[in-house]
Amino acid sequence: MTAIAVLGSTNMDLVAYVPKAPRLGETVTGRAFRTVPGGKGANQAVAAARLGAEVVMIGAVGADEFGVRLRAALTSAGVETAALRTVEGASGTAHITVDDEGANSIIVIPGANASVTGLEAGDDARIGAAGSLLLQLELPLSAVLAGALAARARGVRTILTPAPARPLPAELLAATDLLLPNEHEAAALTGRTDPRRAAEALLQDVPEVVITLGAAGVLHAVRGGEPLTVAAPVVQAVDTTAAGDTFAGALAVALGEGRPMPEALRWASAAAALSVRRRGAQDSMPTRAEADAFAL
Ligand code: ATP
Repeated sequence: MTAIAVLGSTNMDLVAYVPKAPRLGETVTGRAFRTVPGGKGANQAVAAARLGAEVVMIGAVGADEFGVRLRAALTSAGVETAALRTVEGASGTAHITVDDEGANSIIVIPGANASVTGLEAGDDARIGAAGSLLLQLELPLSAVLAGALAARARGVRTILTPAPARPLPAELLAATDLLLPNEHEAAALTGRTDPRRAAEALLQDVPEVVITLGAAGVLHAVRGGEPLTVAAPVVQAVDTTAAGDTFAGALAVALGEGRPMPEALRWASAAAALSVRRRGAQDSMPTRAEADAFAL
């Protein structure tokens, strides 16, 4: 079984569905409210676990009701949570407003995620036991860097989703094997809106880049090689929430199984496409059997 470690965020998404988002000072009556386990780290962990990997999640939740639910969501997906600490205070939350057109606005309050400033006892060994470490940027940068360095020291592949986009320290880039931005993050990091040109710029700092392009698929580029584009399967998109996280988890699983990159990209694209056909974040992620059947 492929072993994957995730060092990342766990948030409760608090989603208000409204006809139209309120302007400053305005009060509107919404249509519905849902609480949904999320956070890029937790989403990637659940995606990989549902696809059959052995996954450990390193991070923190708060000592509140959300913390209990967030841990339970991971556990029920089969993610190992012994390294998910419960710390005093509130869990991370994302306050999301979705209007009738599907447009959203989001406030993220890091809560317990902000307490993860580095690795704790045992985390080195957990990372060392994995084939890949999945990282994002919803934890303090000091923790992301510590994780990447621990993985690098142990020969573990590091896959970094640079979201939310922010300038990346050279030390972190130097410890990154595969950078996995979406097209907006790639543009924010490089100032280049054309994905091929953005990939070229990113390859100056990391050896391999995969840029996700939504319904247009993905672009893969390695130093000294010809870029490869993989089209996304055509599906009826219902909700693209966490499509990127599903893709990241799936790609780590496929690479961990030793599959060549083109095949891994096609399989991860199939898994991500399946997730956009269903509403939700973690709930919409496919199982191994579903991904294998759809990728055929
Ligand atoms: P999110 O923030 O919603 O999790 P993202 O912006 O990080 O997503 P995208 O580039 O939108 O990432 O999507 C990731 C991958 O999911 C795409 O590369 C593609 O494989 C798949 N995908 C996304 N949208 C669609 C779609 N409409 N049809 C098919 N596949 C899709």
